[in-house]
Amino acid sequence: MDNAFIWDDSFITGFDHVDQQHHVLVDLFNELNQAVLDPSGDSDGLLADVYGRLLAYTEYHFREEEELMAQYAVDTRHVENHRNMHQQFIEQVQVLWAQRSAMGDPSATLVGFLTSWLGLHILGIDQSMARQIAAIHEGISPADAYEFETKFHDNGTQALLRLIGKLYTAVSTQNMQLAQANQTLEDRVVQRTQELEAAMARLRAMARTDGLLGIANRAHFHERLEQVCALALRGERPVGVLMVDVDFFKAFNDHYGHLHGDACLQKIAKALTGCLHRTSDLVARYGGEELVVLLPDTNLAGAQQVAQRMVEAVAQLGIAHQASTAAPVVTISVGVCAQIPYAGPDNASGSAALLACADAALYRAKNQGRNRWVAG
Ligand code: GH3
Ligand code: MG
Ligand code: MG
Repeated sequence: MDNAFIWDDSFITGFDHVDQQHHVLVDLFNELNQAVLDPSGDSDGLLADVYGRLLAYTEYHFREEEELMAQYAVDTRHVENHRNMHQQFIEQVQVLWAQRSAMGDPSATLVGFLTSWLGLHILGIDQSMARQIAAIHEGISPADAYEFETKFHDNGTQALLRLIGKLYTAVSTQNMQLAQANQTLEDRVVQRTQELEAAMARLRAMARTDGLLGIANRAHFHERLEQVCALALRGERPVGVLMVDVDFFKAFNDHYGHLHGDACLQKIAKALTGCLHRTSDLVARYGGEELVVLLPDTNLAGAQQVAQRMVEAVAQLGIAHQASTAAPVVTISVGVCAQIPYAGPDNASGSAALLACADAALYRAKNQGRNRWVAG
């Protein structure tokens, strides 16, 4: 496979270990390039591995160069410039790497950036560093070495390198800005997604709740009933269902008005909810002035206790009901059923049998004079 980066003798600085390190870097760049182009295998994992080694080695090499400059007391103007370039390079590579998923051709961009940067760096500032160190070694002061460098090496090649350097900085800045714009966009998408999820959660809650009574609606009740029955069937555990109906409620509406009727239903829903002791229990509006109670893992004795509490709680609300022949106050009738929801012929979870049983019991409670519970 072709190497992306061809070593050139003009890269030689004359400092053996710097040159050796540059050689290692070139090899790593070529390895990265091959990992990118390799059509077989886990190219992502390979790429990440080479990238990790490359970044670690680059940081090591930069430290070595900076130590070399300190050792020869290279002029601070050069050292500062040189260090900035190192720092910038690390930052830009990290940004490019982090943003690679958003790039059209991440591999080419990454390898292209790394190779052109290394070439520019070795030909430019590293050669300048090497010349200054050689001069210092000959006994020239670091400041003179630096000034000599800026005056006499300011020939065509140096000017070209500076121009390329500027171009490179401009493109890198552009890259940074693009990366930041991308990040801002991503942040906004995350925020919008969270808002949307919250709105969906509110909608879901609304779709499961009765608007007037603030308790579960019939659809939610059926959903829970099916889940609870399926679970109970597997564990051979009983499920309790209470069918609750307000007594002579049509007459209440006729006598006190529909608005009072609504308020009365709200109070009843609250009172029934207050009779439940387990968080798994559920009161729902089944329709009109009919409510239903789901009592998972509850036998008949338990369901009867809850029914008794509910009949008492509603009567104790003391809502006057002059048109009722059952009591001077608003009362309810309750049909109670509790059984293991064995599958019927056309109902796999046995939920229909439970509902029918509770409904039949409610009918009997009405016939027996209302304001009571009857077990089916
Ligand atoms: P029973 O004791 O036999 O249950 O008599 P009932 O009058 O309660 O029975 P019926 O089913 O004939 O009447 C139910 C009434 O409940 C009809 C309707 O006016 C009233 N109702 C149903 N839903 C609401 C509601 O949301 N608000 C109000 N105010 N009334 C409702
Ligand atoms: Mg009624
Ligand atoms: Mg009714």
